[in-house]
Amino acid sequence: MSVEQFLEHVDKQQDDYVQRLREIVAIPSVSCDLERRKDVVRMGEWLINELEKLGASTKRVEPGTQVLEGQTIDLPPVVLGTYGTDPAKKTLLVYGHYDVQPALKEDGWATDPWQLTEDSQGRMYGRGSTDDKGPVLGWLCALQAHKELNIELPVNIKFCFEGMEESGSEGLDDVIHQEAQNYFKDVDVVCISDNYWLGKTKPCLTYGLRGVSYYRITLKGPAQDLHSGVFGGTVHEPMTDLVNLMARLVKPDGTILIPGILDDVLPVTGKHGHSTRT
Ligand SMILES: [Zn+2]
Repeated sequence: MSVEQFLEHVDKQQDDYVQRLREIVAIPSVSCDLERRKDVVRMGEWLINELEKLGASTKRVEPGTQVLEGQTIDLPPVVLGTYGTDPAKKTLLVYGHYDVQPALKEDGWATDPWQLTEDSQGRMYGRGSTDDKGPVLGWLCALQAHKELNIELPVNIKFCFEGMEESGSEGLDDVIHQEAQNYFKDVDVVCISDNYWLGKTKPCLTYGLRGVSYYRITLKGPAQDLHSGVFGGTVHEPMTDLVNLMARLVKPDGTILIPGILDDVLPVTGKHGHSTRT
């Protein structure tokens, strides 16, 4: 079968694919909202069900509990799936997430964020349609198309779908450590499928992402208000100390001033993989 024939088949399924995206955009799986936790879990279960329908074997991992809005609740499951176990093939691990950020019409949405809506130019709007339900669903649809056309996949695929990405991926680290020598043991490459297209027709392969480092500063000052006429100018003000400290972290152009922080950072490569730093 040619690539054209394959794509023709995919195009024919378009309405079905969009309908399924509509179905999952309508599940408000907001991970930071206590009220929505049941929807996050429902979304995870939807994926388990779909993976099994495709013939993948699944494993539902419960990563423990968290405290949210003062209540201790279960974290949503990490959904693991395996499609193909041929030892002669490489194994690809696909990561994605099924939770979303909150969305309210009052936030400035032109349409109901939980209802997938297509505009006159064919662009689809709906919370999670691109981050990250669309890409996750894309993998399932790709598997389905291969199955329908009886095309053998050139790789084994493992899936790791989490429901806490928009809330700091709480619980995921533990699952990764726990499964590193088990479920993920045979993985050769990882594809983080949580990215974007360049427009409506141009996919892109992202091969690098920036990271985030979190820091916390705790400053302690006087335990009570001090009279300005008596203490003014003689006692260190926590805010002044904080401004002084923060001002030493970066230059106005963004250069980080902390000694050694860039020591392990590789130079940016040019278009053809050559270093731009000489
Ligand atoms: Zn994302």
